[in-house]
Parts: sequence; structure tokens; C-alpha cells
Amino acid sequence: MGEKTVDFLILGQGFSGSALGLLVEELGYSYMIISNKDKHSASSKAVGLVNPVTGRRMAKTWNYDELMPLAVKFYGRAFETIFKARGNFLNLKPIYKALFSIEEMNFLTAKSAMPGYDEMMEIFLLESKKFPAVFKNTRAWAEIRNAARLEPAFFLQNALNYFISKESHLNANFSIEQLQKVEVGWSFQGLKARNIVSCLGLNCPWTKEELWPNKGQVYEVEGLPNWGPEVLKTDVFLVPTEDGKVWIGSTYEREFENELPDQNGWQSISKDLDPDYLAKIEITKSWAGIRPTTWDRRPIIRKIEEGLFAINGMGTKGVSLAPFAAKNLLETYFGHS
Ligand SMILES: Cc1cc2nc3c(=O)[nH]c(=O)nc-3n(C[C@H](O)[C@H](O)[C@H](O)COP(=O)(O)OP(=O)(O)OC[C@H]3O[C@@H](n4cnc5c(N)ncnc54)[C@H](O)[C@@H]3O)c2cc1C
Repeated sequence: MGEKTVDFLILGQGFSGSALGLLVEELGYSYMIISNKDKHSASSKAVGLVNPVTGRRMAKTWNYDELMPLAVKFYGRAFETIFKARGNFLNLKPIYKALFSIEEMNFLTAKSAMPGYDEMMEIFLLESKKFPAVFKNTRAWAEIRNAARLEPAFFLQNALNYFISKESHLNANFSIEQLQKVEVGWSFQGLKARNIVSCLGLNCPWTKEELWPNKGQVYEVEGLPNWGPEVLKTDVFLVPTEDGKVWIGSTYEREFENELPDQNGWQSISKDLDPDYLAKIEITKSWAGIRPTTWDRRPIIRKIEEGLFAINGMGTKGVSLAPFAAKNLLETYFGHS
């Protein structure tokens, strides 16, 4: 790698490393991103949704009022930087949650009138929305606005192409044993860096002990009726793809034996589907990944020691948390606003 010195050596090119790379580039720093072709990286397995409410009680996602505008701005600027054109990697679209009981409808109708939720949520009776009843016993739909979707592969591949075009990406395997302290900061395989930021997810040697890995399984199916581009959900999401298939995902498994899809995953994912539709489904693809989750579901944005930092713990919300964490690191430790 020669005797080059960069301001930032970024380890990993998932959502976190990509967000940080694009931000430091914008700020005029020199940088190099190292990533291996880890087919198990969480970002490459993600569905890409940004959902403003979570859990059965549909509570607002942590810090959503800051995360969402920031994500829209970040992915819009990333699109402009990469394609030199106006657009946005983040596709804003509502999510429709199936409601199964009168109690649930009453609870969410009351909630949708509360400040902070009134513009975000609206309840529709089944007949007033033209979706097929793909979930059994559906009585109504809650329209959740301010939601969005990123196409993970599209974003990650284009970010990678961009970093390569800037000669700011190296396909290499990071190991802590090869990291040395030098006068200017750090050296890895001959490349010197004033600062290193680990965005290695589950492989981060400095923060991995704090993670609560969480497995997710996703299934691509065909045979469901076409209801348009809308994302439907119960505990799982149904995301239509452009080629007429549907992604169904994902599970949230704290205990697991490996990183592969399995029969239990499909059973849990398909439990709410209408039996008639379920009988017609054919699974065309399945995959699984492990989320780098923290116990309190907050991201890790940390200085480890002088010139060494880590971003991690994106959990189930890497799409919206990664730009936030990258920005927050640069504000907190490098004085940017
Ligand atoms: C099935 C599933 C569905 C999901 N759906 C969503 C969703 O809809 N919305 C959402 O917001 N989030 C979702 N997530 C969560 C999201 O994927 C993660 O929060 C996010 O990807 C974490 O990004 P990261 O960049 O921090 O880590 P990672 O994506 O794991 O990136 C780590 C990077 O480090 C590299 N790397 C690792 N070790 C080395 C090494 N030794 N040397 C060099 N490079 C290395 C990897 O190649 C990779 O580039 C989902 C996750 C899963 C598993």
C-alpha cells in the first residue's frame, strides 16, 4: 500500500462505513476504506426499511424526529455525489400495518389523534384500502407515513464503485495484529492514517463484546397477488420487488446456531399469512444475517483511544442510524456541525 498517509482509515463498507466515507469526503478529508467481501455483512442482508414506529404498541422509534430528516438529506446528497444528479437513494413510502382486532383498532385510532402521531398514522377499514387480505383475519389497516425504503444492494454497490473511482477503497482483510502505532497515528499494511474508525459490525475487535447479535431471516416468494408497491406488515414486512416477487422478513432471533435460513424461520415468518395464499406461495430465495445489536438498542459512537474510534450497534435500524452515527462522530470528536 506504499507510504501514503490519510486522515481517515475506515474499516468496513456496510451502511456505517459507507455513510462515514461519504461524509468525510464531503468535508474534504483524505480517506481510505478497507473492506473484505464478507458475504455475511449485515448491510448486504438488510431489507432496507425505515419504520417510524416499533413494537405492538407502535411507539415512535428512538430519536426518529432527528433520524428521518437526516437520513432523507444524507441519502439525497449521497445520490447527488455519486450520480451527479438529483434524486434520493431513500424511497419515501408509507407502510400499511394489518390490524386484527377491535381493541387494536381502538388503541391505534386513539393513538393516531395524539400529538406526534396525528400526521404519521391513519386507520382505514379493510374495504377502503384495495389490498388483498394476504394476512389472515385482517380487519383494518393502519397507514404509517414518514416511512421509507433503501435498496441496500443498489446503495452499497454504488457507494463502493464511487469509493473505487476515488481510489479510496481497498479490498483487504483487516486484522488487529497488523495494526501498529506510529508517529502520525496508525499504520496498517504500510498505509498510515491519522485516525482509524472501525465500522466492522460484528467483527469489530474493540466493541464486539458489547453486542447482542440478533439473527434475521428473509424469504423471497412468488405466487402472492400484485397489490402495487406498498409495503404491508404484521410482525413481518411484505415488500414487493420490481420483478413481481415479494420479500417477507425478517425474524428477530436472539438464540441461533448459525447464519443460515431454517424451517423455524419460515414458520415464524409465514404464521400470519392467509392459508389460501400460503398454499400458493413458492419460495424463490432465502437468506439470513446477523444484526449488530446493543442491549439498549442505542448505537455505539466511541473514541477507543487517541486516533482510534468505533461506530457500531446499528441493530435493526442501520439505514437510519448509520448517517446519524457517522455525523455524530464527526461532530463530537472532530468539531464539525
Ligand atoms: C435480515 C436482516 C434484515 C434487516 N433489515 C433492515 C431494515 O429493513 N432496515 C434497517 O435499517 N436495518 C435492517 N437490518 C439491520 C442492518 O442490516 C444493520 O443494522 C446494518 O447493516 C449494520 O451496518 P454496519 O455497517 O454497522 O455493519 P455491517 O453491515 O456488518 O458491515 C461491516 C463491514 O465490515 C466488513 N468487515 C467485517 N470484518 C472485516 C475484516 N476483518 N476485514 C475487512 N472488512 C471487514 C464487512 O465486509 C462489511 O463491509 C437488517 C439486518 C438483517 C440481518
